[in-house]
Amino acid sequence: MISLSYRRTGSVKHVDCDILIVGGGFAGCGAAYEAGYWGRDLRIVIAEKANIERSGAVAHGLSAINCYMGMRWNENMPEDFVRYARNDLMGLVREDLLFDIARHVDATVHMFEEWGLPIMYNKETGHYQREGRWQIMIHGESYKPIIAEAAKKSVDEVYNRVMITHLLTDMQNPRRIAGAVGLDVRDGTFYVFRARAVIVCAGGASHIYRPRSVGEGAGRTWYPPWNNGSAYALLMQVGADMIQMENRIVVTRFKDGYGPVGAWFLMLKSVATNAYGEEYEKTHIDDLRAYVGTKYADAKPMPTCLRNHLMLEEIKAGKGPIYIHTERSLDTPEKEELGWEDFLDMTIGQAVLWASQNIDPKTDPSELSMSEPYVMGSHAVCAGAWVSGPEDLAPADYVWGYNRMTTVEGLFGAGDTVGGSPHKFSSGSFTEGRLAAKAAVKYLKDHPDYRPQINTAKIEALREELYRPLENYEVGKHVIVKGSVSPFFITPKQGLQRLEKIMDEYCGGVGSYYTTNEKLLEKGLSLLLMLKEDLRNVGSEDLHQLQRAWELNHRVWVAEAVIRHTLYRKETRWPGYYYRADYPHVDETNWHVFVNSRYNPSTDQWEMSTRHVHHIVP
Ligand SMILES: Cc1cc2nc3c(=O)[nH]c(=O)nc-3n(C[C@H](O)[C@H](O)[C@H](O)COP(=O)(O)OP(=O)(O)OC[C@H]3O[C@@H](n4cnc5c(N)ncnc54)[C@H](O)[C@@H]3O)c2cc1C
Repeated sequence: MISLSYRRTGSVKHVDCDILIVGGGFAGCGAAYEAGYWGRDLRIVIAEKANIERSGAVAHGLSAINCYMGMRWNENMPEDFVRYARNDLMGLVREDLLFDIARHVDATVHMFEEWGLPIMYNKETGHYQREGRWQIMIHGESYKPIIAEAAKKSVDEVYNRVMITHLLTDMQNPRRIAGAVGLDVRDGTFYVFRARAVIVCAGGASHIYRPRSVGEGAGRTWYPPWNNGSAYALLMQVGADMIQMENRIVVTRFKDGYGPVGAWFLMLKSVATNAYGEEYEKTHIDDLRAYVGTKYADAKPMPTCLRNHLMLEEIKAGKGPIYIHTERSLDTPEKEELGWEDFLDMTIGQAVLWASQNIDPKTDPSELSMSEPYVMGSHAVCAGAWVSGPEDLAPADYVWGYNRMTTVEGLFGAGDTVGGSPHKFSSGSFTEGRLAAKAAVKYLKDHPDYRPQINTAKIEALREELYRPLENYEVGKHVIVKGSVSPFFITPKQGLQRLEKIMDEYCGGVGSYYTTNEKLLEKGLSLLLMLKEDLRNVGSEDLHQLQRAWELNHRVWVAEAVIRHTLYRKETRWPGYYYRADYPHVDETNWHVFVNSRYNPSTDQWEMSTRHVHHIVP
């Protein structure tokens, strides 16, 4: 039976294409551009939950491109980048993927400049203005619309406001991709995409963990609330292998507004101290050496998680608030302008917060704090899919198909989707989208006769499932016992709050100083699985809430993977991101490996294993 509400709101649209790109953020736009270039005879479409003009983690614009080698000026070489990212992730990265991005990323940035992105130049050197070793400064308010325009021109159709809820596998071969289904979040149309290849670029996840901002500030997080981990959930549900899902990120940012610290620390050379004016990183360095060894404690730059760790130690010792001394840096009008522009380009809320709290950054320091954890694959962490590497670089056990193809045939990924390759940022994610799309076109040319076979009964079942929250609401809405409490359904928001509580309290959120152990994780998993069962009973009063219901569904899948991976890794690899209290140290002997998971859709079981970490750059 198709739900009453669905009959009222929905129509069905079938789309046949060669390549379906899911998500039109940075990686999706890169994939679109490159697919259009190599696959002129192919039908290429994008399905984007928002509108690609202003979608994704950095829809609002940026003040720096964080991944640029500068090879034409001999500033950095790909090997340097691999060493840097490897060090930052305490040794566990896919060096083949990183090298591949690094050797192509400069060309991407030069293209952005040709398309009209204003990049700042250093008047003395004539090179791009560096913010730090890997970052270059831009006037980036229109960064996203600029790259979206290139994407739009490269594909046959962009389906904006279409959220993909499930991928489809082939009727004859469940390990081969055949398309996807989704929902037009504005008019309720049910979309069925039949595709010969799919590139998932649907971004990482916020609101898995309870955020620091609750009540009136709810929704304010560093990683944007609209990215809900579809990149991972969609892949896991069809049995793709995932790695590093335990490698969640915690960022140190300006307190409450989450203003970025990069320009302040790197460019303006601001310092951070405890409440008593002491530069705490220096105080703790010997303890850190004893804790993680000199290899990581003395690494330059210090890994991001370890810098978090030092700050956390200081907070636990009762020496907060921690301050960043903007007032010591803004000693010229140029620097003051730079500081303000940094926020006005990408975190206006932080400037508003300054105003509301009477903070003048020229005279007053600002508080720093550590965020709740997020799950993503393109920043200073690398959760995501296990993908085939570039043939000319990757060790034999990292290559089984086409570049950036997951372990499901014809299913590719890029950006946050791909595991093991951190520090891609906007430019690297776009570049990885290009690499994935080029390989996807080659895959299609090598398999010209393949026609996806889709099981129509399965589509009907998914259609029923997709609209069930509307049905649940229609049926149960007259029995509300108090306020919004119903005996028949939970709202997406209630489900979200339950998820965030479980993750915060059992899987190392801010409430426990990011600390967990086997017993907590096992308990958390059992509570999460009950929540997963209850997802059948989510009730949505309108299409907006229906979207929220599916975002919650994807978030719960991501959370499950995070718990299972965290349970499996019996060490504390990234202190400052999370701690296993029962295995408090880095264990190089047993755990210098990737943790790998695969969900089996036919048995509903998860298989956990480890994969070798190859170091190909000396
Ligand atoms: C706060 C913050 C600050 C950053 N600052 C910088 C910086 O200064 N410089 C820099 O270079 N990089 C920066 N980055 C990194 C950069 O934003 C990411 O690396 C990049 O956006 C990753 O690209 P992506 O395509 O994987 O994800 P995104 O760009 O987030 O794109 C994901 C897309 O998928 C869509 N989507 C999600 N789910 C679905 C679904 N189910 N169906 C259809 N569509 C879906 C989303 O709407 C979105 O358009 C920052 C990131 C954050 C979070």
